[in-house]
Amino acid sequence: MPGWRVMAIPVLLATVALAQARTEPIAVRVGPVTAVAWPAQRELARTLAEVAARPAEFPGLGTSTPGVLSIIIARNGAALDSIVGGRAPSWGVGFADPATRTILLRADAPDVHRTLRHELAHLALHDRVRVRVPLWFDEGYAGWAAGEWARLGGLELNLAVARGAVPELRDLDGELRRSPGSVGPAYALAMSAVLELARRHPDGRLDPLINRLAAGDEFDAAVQATTGLSLTRFEDAWRRSVRSRYTVATWLVAGGAWVLVATAVLALGFWRRRRDRGRRAALDEGWPIPDPDDQLNGQSDETAEPAEPGGPVLDRNPRP
Ligand SMILES: [Zn+2]
Repeated sequence: MPGWRVMAIPVLLATVALAQARTEPIAVRVGPVTAVAWPAQRELARTLAEVAARPAEFPGLGTSTPGVLSIIIARNGAALDSIVGGRAPSWGVGFADPATRTILLRADAPDVHRTLRHELAHLALHDRVRVRVPLWFDEGYAGWAAGEWARLGGLELNLAVARGAVPELRDLDGELRRSPGSVGPAYALAMSAVLELARRHPDGRLDPLINRLAAGDEFDAAVQATTGLSLTRFEDAWRRSVRSRYTVATWLVAGGAWVLVATAVLALGFWRRRRDRGRRAALDEGWPIPDPDDQLNGQSDETAEPAEPGGPVLDRNPRP
C-alpha cells in the first residue's frame, strides 16, 4: 500500500520507541537495507532485511536491485497506528512510501514475507515509473508481483461479482481504501485489471506498458499505445471479461452451492421450530397447571394427576 509518509530516521526511531512500550528499538543493517524493530522482532527484522537486500524479479521490470531503503516493523496494529499517527486503516498490514523509500510492516501479519514482497513491488515500480499511475494499477501491480493469487480465487465466491456488479475503475480506487469488507474484492479486481492490460498486448506481457510509462507517457496514452484501446474502452473490455469469467455458475461450482444448501437447511430448521412451537402451545391449552404445593411435595409434571378425572391425555413429546 503506497501513499504514506514517514519522518526522518532519528525521529522515527524515537517514535517507534514510544509506540512500542517505551522499549529502545534496534536497527539491523544488511547491505543498503536498514530494518528498525522492537527487540522481540530482532530475528524477523534481520530475515526481512536480508530478503529485501537481494536483487529480485518483478513483472514488467526484470531484475530490480533494492537500493537504500528502511523497513520498520511494528509488533501489532496498535503499534503501527501509533507510528503513523492514526492515519493507517485498521486492516492495513503493510505500507510503502516510495518518496522516502520506507516500508512499514506489521509483525503479526498473516504472511509478512508476502507483504514485504508487495511493498517492495511498489518501490520497484515507482523507481522505474515517475508519472502518476492510478491507485488500482499500483495495487494490482503489487498484488501480481507478490503472487496474491488467492485473492483472485476469492472472487469466485463473491456473489456480487458473480451477479455482474463489477465497479468502474474510478470507483475501484475508492473501494481499495474504504473498509475491510470491500478491500479484499477490490484488490482482486485491481489485479485482474493489470493482468488484462498485459493480456491485451500482442505479446501478452506488461513490459511494453511499463516501458512507455518509464519513458514518461501519461497512463492513458500508454494504455492506448500498448493495448490499442482508450482507457474507457479498456475499462469496458475488462468489465466484460470479469463478468464472463466470474458468473453465478462459477460461483456455484466454487462453493456457492454449499452456501445455498446450508441456507436451506437453516431455513427448514427455523420453520420446523416455529411450527412445533405453535403445536405445543395449542396442546398446552386447557392443561391443568400443577399446584405449587404439589411441586413442593416432590411431584413432577409427569407424575401429577389430572385436576379432573377423565381430563385430556397429553403427549408431552408430540411428533410431527
Ligand atoms: Zn499495496
